[in-house]
Amino acid sequence: MTEEERAYNRAYQPRWRRRRRKWMKAELGGKCVDCGTTRHLEFDHDDRTTKAIPSNHLMTCSMARLRKEMPKLKLRCRRCHRIKTALENQGDVRAAVHAILGQDAEVNEPAYA
Ligand SMILES: [Zn+2]
Repeated sequence: MTEEERAYNRAYQPRWRRRRRKWMKAELGGKCVDCGTTRHLEFDHDDRTTKAIPSNHLMTCSMARLRKEMPKLKLRCRRCHRIKTALENQGDVRAAVHAILGQDAEVNEPAYA
């Protein structure tokens, strides 16, 4: 790859990723499936056991692979995504509380007398 080609890729990729992200968001309804917000949206594998493409490869995999993966994806806002993940990791109450109340929420250990 020449320096010119590398420069082209550097300039082109962010635009291409933004377009893919925009297309995926529109395809998935444009809002959080849980609370309906349109802010801070993330792509979530609704059932993690069916995941064929890791989340960090969704922007770079081929369109053919992405189209196959799309039915497994849901749009969730950052908060609902964290809550769902915490609930899936059963027993992770601390993570669920932090997802709902924010990272600064104080989670006290239960006081057994
Ligand atoms: Zn939400």
